[in-house]
Amino acid sequence: MNKLFFRLLVVLMSLSLIGIILVQVYWFNTSFKNNDEQFKFHVKSVIGNVAEKLQKQEEYTYYEKFNRYKDSTGKIPKKNDLLEFYYVHKNHKNNTTVVYTNSISSQDFNMSSSFFDKKSDGVIFKSYNSKRVTEVYDNNRFDNSKVHSNLSPNLKIEKSGDLSALDNVAYEINYKEIASVMPLQERVSKEMIQKLLKKELEEYGVNTKFEFGVFSSSLATKIKSSGFVFNANNTYSIPIFSDNEGNNKYQLLVSFPNKKKFLLTDLIGITLLSIIFTLIIIIAYSSALNQLIRQRHISEIKSDFINNMTHEFKTPIATINLALDAIKNPKIIGNEEMVLKYIQMIKDENKRMHAQVENVLRISKLEKKELDISKETVNIQEVIEDAIEHVNLILEDRQGSISKHFKADRTNVLLNEVHFINVIVNILENAIKYSPNIPKIDIFTENIKEYLIIKIKDNGIGMSKMAQKRVFEKFYREHTGDLHDVKGHGLGLAYVKKIIEDHNGQIYVESEKGKGSTFIIKIPLIN
Ligand code: ADP
Repeated sequence: MNKLFFRLLVVLMSLSLIGIILVQVYWFNTSFKNNDEQFKFHVKSVIGNVAEKLQKQEEYTYYEKFNRYKDSTGKIPKKNDLLEFYYVHKNHKNNTTVVYTNSISSQDFNMSSSFFDKKSDGVIFKSYNSKRVTEVYDNNRFDNSKVHSNLSPNLKIEKSGDLSALDNVAYEINYKEIASVMPLQERVSKEMIQKLLKKELEEYGVNTKFEFGVFSSSLATKIKSSGFVFNANNTYSIPIFSDNEGNNKYQLLVSFPNKKKFLLTDLIGITLLSIIFTLIIIIAYSSALNQLIRQRHISEIKSDFINNMTHEFKTPIATINLALDAIKNPKIIGNEEMVLKYIQMIKDENKRMHAQVENVLRISKLEKKELDISKETVNIQEVIEDAIEHVNLILEDRQGSISKHFKADRTNVLLNEVHFINVIVNILENAIKYSPNIPKIDIFTENIKEYLIIKIKDNGIGMSKMAQKRVFEKFYREHTGDLHDVKGHGLGLAYVKKIIEDHNGQIYVESEKGKGSTFIIKIPLIN
């Protein structure tokens, strides 16, 4: 795939993924805001209703008292005519005149001072009555008659009754005057507000905890629930008990401590679903991307590896070629000693190539799980000794040394001796290979719980954090800078890790650039 196209694809996919996430965040935000608005609307209606009911209830209690008083006094109220209203309509079509009269009279009730409150004086209450009369006359008779009062109508309809609307207005004005001077505790109780709010909120489906308080000129009164705390974000207010002039001394404040939670529970299901789907997309996308990058990386590494191998085969092949040419030379072919020398040379080069091929084959066999790894109980310290024997020659060549610090008491482990020797040899060879100065290697063993720990420490070039994470990957090789002649294929540690894992063990490396590395192997003991 074209590199540029690949990058473009990655950028586009990442952008659309970010876009999807942003859209989700936007959707969530607007839904939350909408819910908040709806909540506000519901709560405003609720507290509006509660304020109205409080006023009505107070009014009603007074009204009840007043009516009882009116009925029980037995006093004949003073009657006053207040207003007389006439309306005359002449209808020529059916030759009639309609006279409509409405006379409004009022009755005064003098209330004793004890009725409302000891502090106020007696109050006069008015009750209004209306008498409505409709009379229909013959036009001829009506026009001819001089004195209408003597005339008897053709039809007369009389209606009378309380003028409750007027009564109410007059009553409301009076009661408000009186109630406004009463202490708040006598006008309303905590329980009453609690009950009203609860009922109304339930009706509107606002099923979350609420607290309330009545405030007078921004100061809290005693009428409030125990947990009330003012918080501008979740508190709503409404004036209550307005007086005749429309002034409000009191405010009812209602707060919802769990408002956010309540609003969120509505969205939680769908939000969770969208988060899950987005996560699935992110995971799928990143693993696909990861896979793609890995594939590219592996194909790069493979071509590197092939180049490397070819290069390494070239030298022995050339050497063998030269040796064969030399043997063919008539001067040499008769010289048995020289021929043997060249044959040895060919054999050595052949051996090198064989070892190379063997190395590659081993790891690929391991990949396909074709390697038969049979295990038996072995003393691991003996295995380490054997491995040290294997590297002794190259170590001597570099004048290096290995110090053993065997502290483990229990050393029996179930393992495959041949592979395990290879493992230790690989690590020791690396320790020598990647030490530019005289190699000094320390090998420690110890028991931690049910494990045997082997630490192999060198004084070599060390490695970067990045390399520490990746040295166990197939074909990974760090650029070794000044160590140009160090050869390898990046397969050794991949093999080591595979074998250790096959033994239910773990391997990791601690290292610092320039200060050497320590490879740590952890392998389970047998009881
Ligand atoms: P190879 O040695 O053939 O390159 P390995 O798998 O054995 O492959 O090692 C992988 C890489 O890990 C090496 O190329 C080297 O960069 C790094 N490495 C391994 N052992 C050491 C060590 N003891 N000190 C520093 N670097 C090391």
